[in-house]
Amino acid sequence: APAAPKEETSRDLAVAAPPAEEEERTVRLQIIDDEKRFTPDLDEYMDAKWHVLDRGFDYNMIAVFGSQSTGKSTLLNRIFHTDFDVMNESRRGQTTKGIWLAKAPGLKGTLVMDVEGTDGRERGEDQDFERKSSLFALAIAEVIIINMWEHMVGLYQGANMGLLKVVLDVNLSLFQKKGSPRTHLFFVIRDHASGTPLEMLAETVRTDLDRIWASLNKPPGLENAKLDDFFDVTFTSLPHKRLQPDRFESEAEKLRGRFIDPHHPQFVFQPRYKKGIPADGFPRFARDIWDQINANRDLDLPSQQELLAQFRCDELAAVASAAYTKSTAPLRARIEGGEIVDTFGQDADAALEAALAPFDQSASRYHRGVYERKRADLIDRVVTATYPVYSTQMRNAHRRAINLFKNGLDFKLKAKHADFFQVVETTTEEVARYLATVSNLTKLKVAGWTGDEAVALLRSELAVIVDERRVEELAKLTTATEKQLVGELNEAVALILADPQPAMWTRVDETFKDLLGNAEQALTRRATMLRIDGNETAERLDDLRASAAQALKDAIAAATSDAALVQRLRAKFEEKFRYDDQGVPRVWSSADDIDGVYKKARDEAAALLASYSEPAPLPAVQGLVADRDLALVPETLATSVADLGRSLVPPARVSDVTLRFRREVDVMYTEAKRSVVAAQAH
Ligand code: GDP
Ligand code: MG
Repeated sequence: APAAPKEETSRDLAVAAPPAEEEERTVRLQIIDDEKRFTPDLDEYMDAKWHVLDRGFDYNMIAVFGSQSTGKSTLLNRIFHTDFDVMNESRRGQTTKGIWLAKAPGLKGTLVMDVEGTDGRERGEDQDFERKSSLFALAIAEVIIINMWEHMVGLYQGANMGLLKVVLDVNLSLFQKKGSPRTHLFFVIRDHASGTPLEMLAETVRTDLDRIWASLNKPPGLENAKLDDFFDVTFTSLPHKRLQPDRFESEAEKLRGRFIDPHHPQFVFQPRYKKGIPADGFPRFARDIWDQINANRDLDLPSQQELLAQFRCDELAAVASAAYTKSTAPLRARIEGGEIVDTFGQDADAALEAALAPFDQSASRYHRGVYERKRADLIDRVVTATYPVYSTQMRNAHRRAINLFKNGLDFKLKAKHADFFQVVETTTEEVARYLATVSNLTKLKVAGWTGDEAVALLRSELAVIVDERRVEELAKLTTATEKQLVGELNEAVALILADPQPAMWTRVDETFKDLLGNAEQALTRRATMLRIDGNETAERLDDLRASAAQALKDAIAAATSDAALVQRLRAKFEEKFRYDDQGVPRVWSSADDIDGVYKKARDEAAALLASYSEPAPLPAVQGLVADRDLALVPETLATSVADLGRSLVPPARVSDVTLRFRREVDVMYTEAKRSVVAAQAH
């Protein structure tokens, strides 16, 4: 059976399939045996056999007291259709003891307690059991039937009086607090055959009760308490069973109506008699009460109820917590597998609500303070048990946020004119919001968790990534700027040096200055945008200058290679030797001064070499290191600048180039001479 099913459901079931009265008849249980041992089976009977366990407060409990063989069991069987043992003539005089419990067949939740052997007239042992069973019955029963023969009424010294004294005394020790539940004492006078009116019999008993009450030692605070503060007292009688058997049966049947029909004007069960024990706590409560009574310990009902509340609330809480764990297990597994389940909070809230509903329904019937405390404990436990899942999900989301951030930066920084820090800022806020949202979607409503710490941690990790990115971005920009500068320099230098003239070096120097200046500006602007600090920028600028100087060196070297120089001298020579002043190609005649033109052209061309063999005047280039502490200038920059300050074409190369040039132009001279000789021959 489910531990805490809904009352409605169980009632519907009972209506849908009422157990046959005959079948139920024999289902009774000796809850206390003649060794005063409490049964281990009460739970099972309450649940599976009697279907009372889940009825909450919706059940009745009645017990019977009276001397032995006064027809108690007979009466209960008539009223409730139970099947308690009736002593027959042959077994008369038995002294069996014990307490039996049965459910009235056909009635939902009416439990009937038959006390056997309550007759403590003679032996001390019996008095002990009488007192204990009375305590037990008074602690849990709402209605107590007190059974007595008519002829015993008024015999103040009789066994009845002993019994009544015990009942009143015991009740005083149990229910001392104002507002304690009342008990209904229902007197049934048996073998009413004398003709004395019931009212007179009742008055006699009532007088005896009052006398007993007056004789009792009242605990402090209850000195002036009246019998009626604790009891409702009802009297009735039955005809003689043997002398008037028909009337006995019909009166007994009539009496049954007062016990089973809630609409009967004299219905015996009333809410004010309820002892406040929910049915599902009854087995445990009854056993604890009996253990206390049997050990002769003072019975403190309120603290027993509180203990019961703790026990039952703990049981119910364990069921609720297990239900919650079970229904959230699949989600937990997915999250632990690395997934981000964004319905987790919602689902876990629902699971908690579902687990709390039966808990609240059953546990709220117990001691209010205990129930509320246990409920808070339960929620605490659930929250604590859920936190690791929340953390795991947040870790998963954290990883995802980092990826989102990196990809976001990659994508947005590709855009032209993307402002690095604006991109960083919007992307950071996006993923921080994402993580905060996951926290909200994951947390239990009742938990005080915030994603603040997780978001703070994420932000600090993003900051590290941003730092790395800035360095990467700067490196990328530096490389791009350098590449562009080197390209521009190569092209410009080649162009200038191809046309040797006096202003050549000045143009190279100025071009270098302009191009480097532009590149420096561009790099500085980008570094500022990336919020690179001044020192770092200065280093990058020096790198840029070193690359520029190196590029210039390379460009000049390319433009001043042996082949390039020879080619350039030869071009100059040809310009002067092969063409006249008007640029018209010469056709040599014998009248021409070939030798003179030749020499002039050759010398002019050779003179060009001088502008390469002298150290090039490059003040802007030299300015890169001038006035600077050389220890702080990058070595590559210093080397390149120093190289550029030296002669580009050293003397050895000058003679090489001159030689190669001479050989080439000598050929042209010889050809010119030959062409004149050939023309004369024709
Ligand atoms: P208990 O010991 O009080 O439970 O009494 P029982 O119900 O076992 O009855 C004991 C004997 O009394 C049996 O033989 C019954 O038949 C008989 N008996 C039961 N009810 C009455 C009654 O109302 N009047 C008389 N005279 N005998 C009864
Ligand atoms: Mg009996």
